[in-house]
Parts: sequence; structure tokens; C-alpha cells
Amino acid sequence: RANKSTHGIFLPHLVASLEQVEQTYIMVKPDGVQRGLVGEIISRFERKGFKLTGLKLFQCHKELAEEHYKDLKTKSFYPTLIDYITSGPVVCMVWEGVGVVASARKLIGSTNPLQAEPGTIRGDLAVQTGRNVVHGSDSPENGKRETALWFKEGELCEWTPAQAPWLME
Ligand code: ADP
Repeated sequence: RANKSTHGIFLPHLVASLEQVEQTYIMVKPDGVQRGLVGEIISRFERKGFKLTGLKLFQCHKELAEEHYKDLKTKSFYPTLIDYITSGPVVCMVWEGVGVVASARKLIGSTNPLQAEPGTIRGDLAVQTGRNVVHGSDSPENGKRETALWFKEGELCEWTPAQAPWLME
């Protein structure tokens, strides 16, 4: 594995993290888009230091919403959840980093915004579970599954942010 930059400088912060790099699928739900919270939500992940590798505005169709939320099919709120997610455009994102899945869930906060801590996205910006403005994958496996579900090959960008050496030693 390459452990040198193109200039031959050793970059241990890049090498050390390679094994643990995860992907998470983050989505600004239709209420977040309608309420003009897209920039605010993207900004929180950006400022934390994670790497954006996919981003698009997208009108989700019913079949995709049903596949995404298939584990919740038996829940009473499932039909209204599908209506909600397909009710307007969503912003689909993939963020990468060491520990990004669990960290993103912390940044997002509890499912019920009234129980979400202040400082979290839901704690600061939402009041109801059925309008909780953002989605984040709940495991690294689901991060991969959801990324493959929402993004086509070629829609993701592999790149090295200029700030990388200033984020990890
Ligand atoms: P999370 O999004 O925090 O991972 P879940 O996977 O449990 O939470 O649920 C997925 C989504 O389904 C929630 O974000 C929310 O939009 C919706 N949902 C969950 N529970 C309810 C509920 N009791 N009433 C209405 N919508 C709900």
C-alpha cells in the first residue's frame, strides 16, 4: 500500500486511518429542504471534519423509499413515513471518515427531536419524530448498503481534502 504522497513525504495520518474508514449515508429529508436547512445541516458535518464524497438533490420515488425503510415495514407509521420521504426533494450525501457512522448519529441526535440533546441537529432544529429533518445510517454495514441504494457508481468522488494533515496526526 502506498504510504507516500506524490512528493515522497510520509503521511502516517492517511495510512493509519485507511483500515477504519467508514461511509455513512446522510439525507436531508423533505422538511429540512423545505425549511431551508440544507446548508446548516451540511455545514455541521463539514465543520466536524468528515469528508464529503457524494451529494445530490433528488426526488425519491416510492420503491426506493420502501427499500430504504424495509426494516420498518411492519410499523404503524410506515405508510406515513413513505409519504413523508417522497413528499418533496431530499438531499442525499455520503460522508467518509474514521468512526463517521456513530459520530454522525451523535451529531444528528435522538429520533424524537424533543428528546434530542441541544447542540444536535434534531435537538436544535426539529420538534417531532415524523418531521425530524435528517437521516443517518445506523451501522457501517447500512452505511454501505444505503450508499449503494441511493448513489450510482460514478456519482461518488474519491479525493483528498487539503485539510487532511490538520485533522489527523
Ligand atoms: P432514526 O432515523 O433515528 O434511525 P428509526 O430508524 O427508528 O430512527 O426510524 C426511521 C425514521 O422513521 C425516523 O427518523 C422517523 O422519520 C420515522 N419514525 C420513527 N418512529 C416514528 C414514529 N413513532 N412516528 C412517526 N415517524 C417515526
